[in-house]
Amino acid sequence: MIEVVRGDITTLQVDAIVNAANSSLLGGGGVDGAIHRAAGPRLLEACRRVGGCPVGKSRITGGFDLPANWVIHTVGPVWQGGECDEPELLSACYRNSFELALQNGKIASIAFPGISTGVYGYPKRDAAIRALTEMRRYDSRFERIIACCFGAQDEEIYKEEMSRR
Ligand code: ADP
Repeated sequence: MIEVVRGDITTLQVDAIVNAANSSLLGGGGVDGAIHRAAGPRLLEACRRVGGCPVGKSRITGGFDLPANWVIHTVGPVWQGGECDEPELLSACYRNSFELALQNGKIASIAFPGISTGVYGYPKRDAAIRALTEMRRYDSRFERIIACCFGAQDEEIYKEEMSRR
């Protein structure tokens, strides 16, 4: 089941939350900063051991002090106008995160932020359409898939696009 939830992803009681990380995996602002603050310093240590992640790919660590047991770190594309493979890379973030979750074998519920839609500047509606397309593909293989919206406008966009099909 796909659910649109408004709130702070770090508070969600799910098996895994997805982090919109940067390729160093060493923390940043936005949702990445919030996840590192809530998970505690062991998350940074775990990310150091992982050693980075290319754009469009995903890596998994524990969730440490978070309610979630796992964090799947994915690196979204920086929006450069749409001609630099950003759309395909954004879809790949969702797909590769779902695939990692399935490989893990213990993840039945997973929550995503709006990857690339903050500092990375990806247009929010186009990003939501891509996110929902991938979520629908994986819907039957998870108990819960949550689109976690931080702002009211994001929630509105997701709800509109959810009802479209
Ligand atoms: P990116 O660099 O991939 O654009 P950002 O963290 O800047 O990542 O933003 C990604 C999305 O996460 C934005 O829509 C932003 O509003 C949202 N966001 C920021 N903090 C949180 C949070 N604590 N929980 C859920 N979403 C958040």
